[in-house]
Amino acid sequence: MTDYAEVIERIYREVTPYWGAGKVADYIPALAQVDPRQLGIVVDTLDLNTCKVGDADVPFSVQSISKVFTLTMVVRLIGEELWKSVGREPSGNPFNSLVQLEYEQGLPRNPFINAGALVVTDRLISLYPRPKEALIDFVRSLCGTDDIYYDHHVAKSERLHADRNMALAYFIKSFGNIHNDVETVIDVYCHQCALAMSCTDLARSFLLFANRGVNPLNGEQVLTESQTKRIGALMATCGFYDESGDFAYRVGLPGKSGVGGGIVAYMPGKLSMAVWSPELNSYGNSLIGIEAFERFTTDIRSSIF
Ligand code: GLU
Repeated sequence: MTDYAEVIERIYREVTPYWGAGKVADYIPALAQVDPRQLGIVVDTLDLNTCKVGDADVPFSVQSISKVFTLTMVVRLIGEELWKSVGREPSGNPFNSLVQLEYEQGLPRNPFINAGALVVTDRLISLYPRPKEALIDFVRSLCGTDDIYYDHHVAKSERLHADRNMALAYFIKSFGNIHNDVETVIDVYCHQCALAMSCTDLARSFLLFANRGVNPLNGEQVLTESQTKRIGALMATCGFYDESGDFAYRVGLPGKSGVGGGIVAYMPGKLSMAVWSPELNSYGNSLIGIEAFERFTTDIRSSIF
């Protein structure tokens, strides 16, 4: 049996020399203030064995990783209906691009670019009377801890610099694809980006996908097997901004990243893994995170391909 603890400890030593090669996100001041030299790695298996190294229990801003949670909450309630409003193809454009939306008539390419995520958040607001509370309760139920919170400092900073997301939301609304008040959509969106979670929490929360849609903590079937496959397919094709193809090529796992420097991915039927290191590469993905994931699947000689 693979000794995951030994593997991630070795990887930790191998990737720390890359400190300084990337750049911390600076589009909002709250993220620019994060100490760049931090690295956590966690592997969690379906039998709930956790191996961790480094800053594994330090909470950080999950940013776009939250798009997977909101998508899951919406898909579990309305299923295929969502795909009338959001596409399922990689965009080939930056995550916050406006151009594609115009010629595609307000129908965002996929739920992981900002345009698509804003539509998903809009549906979340329509479906859940208290969406922010519902989101945090949902994530807590996946992590088995109440120690998950919104970082209000980040949420505020996010809101102060949300001009482009506001523009996206108004533009989509002009096509009738956002139903709620744009201010409300942006408020919930800024909060979901500001969810603070550690690698330990993130890895645990993604066991849901490794476990065919069943929360391994309580046996609840959160997603059907088919919904789990579909969300996994979206992560594999669109989960890493414009670097999704390269992540599939180098790592070979479905997952999601965020500009806070977190990456979480999973191996169906086996395990989940989270890495956090705040310095990003030019695509907005954690530079050390990708190095660590590539070494991991190479080392254990396993991927979805
Ligand atoms: N809060 C970010 C934004 O919408 C999300 C960034 C990300 O992780 O992709 O600008």
